[in-house]
Amino acid sequence: MKIICVGRNYVEHIIELENERPDSPVIFLKPETSIIHKNQPFFIPSYSNDVHHEIEVIVQINRLGKSISPKFSHKYYDKIGLGVDFTARDLQITLKKRGLPWEKSKAFDGSALIGNWINKNEIEDLNNIDFKLEKNGYIVQTGNTSNMLWNIDELISEISKYFTLKIGDVIFTGTPSGVAKVIENDNLVGFLNDRECFSIKIK
Ligand code: ZN
Repeated sequence: MKIICVGRNYVEHIIELENERPDSPVIFLKPETSIIHKNQPFFIPSYSNDVHHEIEVIVQINRLGKSISPKFSHKYYDKIGLGVDFTARDLQITLKKRGLPWEKSKAFDGSALIGNWINKNEIEDLNNIDFKLEKNGYIVQTGNTSNMLWNIDELISEISKYFTLKIGDVIFTGTPSGVAKVIENDNLVGFLNDRECFSIKIK
C-alpha cells in the first residue's frame, strides 16, 4: 500500500506557512514504512529539532481505480478517519529553499499516524466534518472539511490521474492551521465530530 498526501488544502494553513495558493492540489507520497504501529509512540528523529504535528482527515481506498471521475469517487472509499502527518519542518524548509524533494522531512520512518477508522455511512455530511487535535488537553488545531480547497471526491479524482489507487491505500487530505512543534512527553489526541480517533505519546 501507499500513502498519498495532499499539501496546502486549507487557506489558513497556506497563510501560516507563507506558501503560495496552488492552482492544483499539491501531492506527495509516504511509503508503508512511515506508518506508526498500533499503540506505539512517535519518536522524534535525531535529525530534526522542529517536528510539527499536522492533523488531517484521512480516507482508505477500497477499490482499484485509475482516472476516476469526481462523480464516482465516493465508490472508492468507505472508511474515513484522522491521521497525523508528522513533518520535520526545519528539514523541510532547508529542502524547499534548495528546490529539493521533501521526502526526508515528510516520509521518514514513523511519520504517519493512522487513527481508528469510521464507516463513512456514519457521517452525515463528509463535506462538513469537524475535527480537532488536542495537545496535553488543550485544543491546538481545529478544522472543518468544508474549508478544503479540494474536497475528498475531487482529491481522489486528481490523485488517480497520476497514481493508480489500490485497495488499502490511504489519502491524507491536508492540514488546517495551527501546526506546531511537538516535544518529548506531549500527548496528542484527535477527534472527528467529537469521536476520539487516536491518542499518541511523543518520545
Ligand atoms: Zn500534511
